[in-house]
Amino acid sequence: MSGAYTESLNRLIEEFGKLPGVGPKTAERLAFYILKANPAEAMALAEAIRDVKNKIKRCEICCNFSEQAVCQICSDPRRDKSLICVVEQPKDVISLEKTGTCRWVYHVLGGHIAPLEGVEPGDLTIEQLVERVREGDVKEVIMATNPNMAGDGTALYISSLLRSTGVKITKLARGLPTGSTIEYASGKMLTDAITGRQELE
Ligand SMILES: [Zn+2]
Repeated sequence: MSGAYTESLNRLIEEFGKLPGVGPKTAERLAFYILKANPAEAMALAEAIRDVKNKIKRCEICCNFSEQAVCQICSDPRRDKSLICVVEQPKDVISLEKTGTCRWVYHVLGGHIAPLEGVEPGDLTIEQLVERVREGDVKEVIMATNPNMAGDGTALYISSLLRSTGVKITKLARGLPTGSTIEYASGKMLTDAITGRQELE
C-alpha cells in the first residue's frame, strides 16, 4: 500500500482487499470509486452493509437467514410443513428455490461435519432438526447436503439420529455429479435430483 494515500483511504483499500476475489488492484479501484462517488451513494453502501449485519438473524424454525423471527418460507401457508429439506447453507436454499419445484420447508445446518476442520455435530443445527422432527408432524426429511464426502457423511449421521423417529428419509438423486455442490448445480440437474430422490438405506 502506498504511503502517498491518506490513512482513511489506505484503510478502505485494506477493507476492500479482505473481500473474496478482490485483489490489491481491484481494492484500490473500488476505494477510488467510493472516494469520487457522491456522499449519498457512498453512504448507501455503508448503510446497506450495516443493515445486513444488524437486521438479519436466523429463523427460529429453519435457521435460514431472516429479518423476522420466522422466515418467509416457514410462515408461508402454502408450504408443506411435513416435508423438510435439509441443506448445508442458506445459498443452497436459493439454488433449490430457483428450480421453482419446491413446496417444502427447509432446515439449514450451517455447514457439514468436518472433524479435521474442527466442525463437530454440535456446531451445526442438527439438534434443532431432530427436535423439529420429534415434535412436528413431519412425514419426510429430504437430505440435500452436498454430494461429496463431507455432505454424504453429514446426511448419514443425521439419518442415524432420525431413524428412531420412524420418519421417511430420502436423498436427492445421484444426478448431481459426485464431489459437486448444490450451490453450483444447474436448475435442470437439481430438478431431476429432486424428482428422482430415493429413500436412504
Ligand atoms: Zn424458516
